[in-house]
Amino acid sequence: AAELGLKDPGKIVVCGDVPFRPFEEEDPTSPTGYKGFDVDISQEIADGLGVELEFKDATFDTLQSGLALNSGQCDMSASGMTITEDRKKEIAFSDGYYDSLQSLLVPKDSDVKELGDLNGKKIAVQQGSTGSAYAEKKAEGAELVYLPSDAEMFQALQGNQVDAILQDLPVNLDHTKDGEYAIVAEYDTGEEYGLAIKKDNTKLVEAVNAELQEIRDSGRYQEIYDSYFAE
Ligand code: GLN
Repeated sequence: AAELGLKDPGKIVVCGDVPFRPFEEEDPTSPTGYKGFDVDISQEIADGLGVELEFKDATFDTLQSGLALNSGQCDMSASGMTITEDRKKEIAFSDGYYDSLQSLLVPKDSDVKELGDLNGKKIAVQQGSTGSAYAEKKAEGAELVYLPSDAEMFQALQGNQVDAILQDLPVNLDHTKDGEYAIVAEYDTGEEYGLAIKKDNTKLVEAVNAELQEIRDSGRYQEIYDSYFAE
């Protein structure tokens, strides 16, 4: 694996913003210390490349801006990160590996039904995220509260500091599990998650794409997908 441009040729260091359930969360019983869809996909890729996987927590904004990759903190990001033209200026993306959309989460008894109802109200968004860009355009009259992580957004909602949060649908769905919060609107932004790699490392992008294709062909991708997203 010497030609892949990994910082340590024996392992791939993959960064994700934890927790972002069901894509990445801590799990002391797992060999990497983490579990989730992104972690499983990263493990398959590491296995295919014949290297070890080290999964690391990082702040989302440092991942989406390319900072964590360019500084050598991580070889790859697997963090539910949407492929965007803007981000492509700083980082390279693998082929898409998950389709996503935006959604609005509110307390069950809220009368907010869509972004347009948030005039004069507060909405939490994640710094540097596609959701924050969407809210900037669509949440007219709302006060946007920028927080570094999904965990802090959900805490702000639980603590009644905000009236709603705008986040990727699968992650908000996870927040509805305790029955106190509801998704009242979905916005089909046509987002696709990609694994992010340092811009000049074409070799690693190609190798990762080949592994993604391989796990799709073998049925392993579908197995992992079903283990997190099957109803
Ligand atoms: N998919 C969203 C984005 O790329 C949010 C990702 C995240 O917060 N981990 O901006």
